[in-house]
Amino acid sequence: MNLGVVDRIRAAVYEVEHHTRTVAPEAGPFTGPVERVYDYCRQHTAHLEAEQQNASEAIIYRQELEHAIAAGDTTVVRKHPCPQCGCWGLYWREAAQRAVCVNHYCTDDNGVSHMWELKRLAQDHVARKSAVAHSAT
Ligand SMILES: [Zn+2]
Repeated sequence: MNLGVVDRIRAAVYEVEHHTRTVAPEAGPFTGPVERVYDYCRQHTAHLEAEQQNASEAIIYRQELEHAIAAGDTTVVRKHPCPQCGCWGLYWREAAQRAVCVNHYCTDDNGVSHMWELKRLAQDHVARKSAVAHSAT
């Protein structure tokens, strides 16, 4: 087994557990098998405000993107519109560890293409999903 993968998963589990216990101290330590950590998080944050649940979901979703990219599937970033211009032309730049917008007009004041952390894409994704869920009820 690849030790880098083990470290990454351990760090991911720790992050989710730490977040869960920060927003829901009564949750107690996570003791289950690693694949249950998201269930543990959702279970213990289900009673919180939508905003805090979204924060949890954004962490979970971001980790899913990270796992996919670490496994070599960088196309996952294309499923997100650029937070700046809304186009569907994001691609993954490994060296920067960020998603870059392909739109030539979507640049900052220095003419550098906008780049986005996975965290931002995940937050936007969860916010969009949440908005859809709310308008549907
Ligand atoms: Zn853009």
